[in-house]
Amino acid sequence: MSETTLATPAETATTGKGHASKYTRNQPYQSKVLVNRLLTGPESEKETIHVEMELEEGMNYVPGDALGVIPTYRAEAVDAVLKALGFNGTERVLDHNKVEISFREALTSRLTIGKLARGAVNQYAKLAGDNVPEGLKALLGPDNKAAAEDYVWGRELIDLVTDFPGVIKQPQDLFEVLQRLTPRMYSIASSEAAHPGQVQLTVRVVRYNTHGQERQGVTSGMLGERAQAAATLPVFLHENNNFRLPEDTNAPVIMIGPGTGIAPFRAFLEHRQTLGQKGDNWLVFGDQREVSDFLYKDQFLAMQASGLLTKLQTAFSRDQAKKIYVQDRLREASAELFAWLERGAYFYVCGDASRMAKDVELVLLDSIATGLKGTPEQAAEYLTGMKKQKRYQRDVY
Ligand SMILES: Cc1cc2nc3c(=O)[nH]c(=O)nc-3n(C[C@H](O)[C@H](O)[C@H](O)COP(=O)(O)OP(=O)(O)OC[C@H]3O[C@@H](n4cnc5c(N)ncnc54)[C@H](O)[C@@H]3O)c2cc1C
Repeated sequence: MSETTLATPAETATTGKGHASKYTRNQPYQSKVLVNRLLTGPESEKETIHVEMELEEGMNYVPGDALGVIPTYRAEAVDAVLKALGFNGTERVLDHNKVEISFREALTSRLTIGKLARGAVNQYAKLAGDNVPEGLKALLGPDNKAAAEDYVWGRELIDLVTDFPGVIKQPQDLFEVLQRLTPRMYSIASSEAAHPGQVQLTVRVVRYNTHGQERQGVTSGMLGERAQAAATLPVFLHENNNFRLPEDTNAPVIMIGPGTGIAPFRAFLEHRQTLGQKGDNWLVFGDQREVSDFLYKDQFLAMQASGLLTKLQTAFSRDQAKKIYVQDRLREASAELFAWLERGAYFYVCGDASRMAKDVELVLLDSIATGLKGTPEQAAEYLTGMKKQKRYQRDVY
């Protein structure tokens, strides 16, 4: 889409329609970081940051969209791989587009040297030809799938080349072994109407220790450590038409967003606030501890005080002996939840796909069944109806 066909921010704000910009994952925009601050307190077991970045005129988004961030590995991680392989990084290789680049560049921005895939182990073994080390043989073939899964868990390329050295003879060989390094998506946490020319993110910095090594996620680690104010990062806007505020600005919305799942709902609320939209807003946020993990606490409490947030529920799992999660808060408000649905409320879930989203759906179904005084089948039918009307939307990862 050419720049001239893009709507102005004011049009975006009123119509709520999303649209692409000329920047893509293959041709990203170099965005300047304006603010990078820690949201979590010192006592937190997590490290969640708020990042504000500048956008060029014509780069427009609407609440529900995401930002694609193109990652690079930190120099220490690349140096460690080069050292283990016995190369210095100035060697020349051809990237996926057959463009000649340095081996260091390939390891920094083209290949996945972090999180090891099982396929990478197989490909690595193929390169060893007739000289596959015994330990590596034990990870190959359909019979050893479980052993291979076990091996790759929490490991990276550096572990593979250290455990089974001497296989990579040419830097180019690694293109046969490793997956391409791909951009990561982050739900946009800001409303363009409230922050013209800016995009804001809520990012959990992934850090963990496995097999005696400190590790970090490539993109969130980059945002956490190498994206201070004035740094530039390659980004692109990603439209998400399956996660949108209702077109009827008076329709009530219920938003379930624990952890970084809060991000798009901050955008929803800022949008409705800035444009003076009147629909009722119910937010359920959860995390470990109120003192350290209540993301954007002051902003949400102010929204509650002003009446923008009709209902705010929080669930801090570690603040009492018995763990309380967002789905428990929702269950406590089961009758009210059904009343909101009967008023035409839209129901949104964002965040952890593994458990939370399923548990929330179960509570939703139970609340509907109770409200209807009906069967589980009738509740499921009601939910299907909501889905058809786009009144049940999820953005889980
Ligand atoms: C639509 C969408 C929206 C998203 N929005 C957000 C958002 O708003 N905020 C946000 O923070 N994230 C968001 N994410 C997730 C985000 O895209 C990344 O997946 C996340 O930041 C991790 O990427 P990374 O590059 O830092 O880590 P990677 O380098 O991809 O590493 C992550 C991998 O590390 C491994 N790992 C992590 N922890 C452990 C552990 N304890 N033990 C062993 N292995 C482990 C796992 O294999 C995991 O898959 C979103 C994802 C999608 C798809």
